[in-house]
Amino acid sequence: MDLGIAGRQALVCASSKGIGLACALSLAREGAALTMVARGKDALEQSAEAIYRGTGASVTTVAADITTPEGRAAALSACPTPDILVTNAGGPKPGDFRDWERSHWIAALDANMLTPIALIKATVDGMIARRFGRIINITSGTVKAPIDILGLSNGARSGLTGFVAGLARKTVAHNVTINNLLPGPFETDRLRETAGQWALQSGKSEELVLNERRATVPAGRFGTPAEFGDACAYLCSAQAGFITGQNLLLDGGIYPGTF
Ligand code: NAP
Repeated sequence: MDLGIAGRQALVCASSKGIGLACALSLAREGAALTMVARGKDALEQSAEAIYRGTGASVTTVAADITTPEGRAAALSACPTPDILVTNAGGPKPGDFRDWERSHWIAALDANMLTPIALIKATVDGMIARRFGRIINITSGTVKAPIDILGLSNGARSGLTGFVAGLARKTVAHNVTINNLLPGPFETDRLRETAGQWALQSGKSEELVLNERRATVPAGRFGTPAEFGDACAYLCSAQAGFITGQNLLLDGGIYPGTF
């Protein structure tokens, strides 16, 4: 299927690794021109080069922290009129809510709620004027099925989800859609880091921790970043203009509810 986005400008945040990188790659395969953002310059340049070599897509890189006003200004200066915006950033660390001070909450809200909202605010009116826009927020499966130790993430991402639910119903009349992708466990650096931390705490091997986690997934495996990237590309397609305000769970069947 031709997704009809060749030549579209895509700003993909937090995209040197993991599922953000997979979104960038899938969009590039469809002919979108990318602006990729991450803090670490080396990994970002390597990923951009690999995408360029593999797809021939135009790729611009911005080494910046997307959760800061300066980082967002740099990203938007490199890509001032995106047709496609993928918001993403690192997730807050797990912990016990009794240990979290106001500063922890503000940092989580900044990264996982207020940064996507600021990026949407900066880009959505241009999309409306051009009568095409696709905004994807990478949130988490924990928005639907919270994990207690991820309270900072649960709270901040739920705030974003609530905000988007209202706006997405206003923008769709202009062919501008806003949807959230909710990852369950995907094979990325973050998944391995989290398993490594848990292995240290529990005294189990990292391999055992990963196997135990894998066994909780009805699909019997973790998701591959490519599966995530292609779901993102579809929601960014010309054909997806009737889908807005949705929260698409990609979790191999972990969420147990009917809806
Ligand atoms: P990952 O493999 O660790 O990759 C994270 C990417 O984001 C890297 O490119 C990183 O590059 C970039 N990044 C992080 N913070 C940034 C910032 N402030 N500004 C710009 N770039 C930033 O992580 P992932 O597994 O793809 O996860 C992506 C998001 O999905 C996270 O919010 C995570 O919590 C969420 N999630 C993931 C899973 C999963 O199983 N993988 C499940 C649920 C939710 P730099 O570090 O160089 O900036």
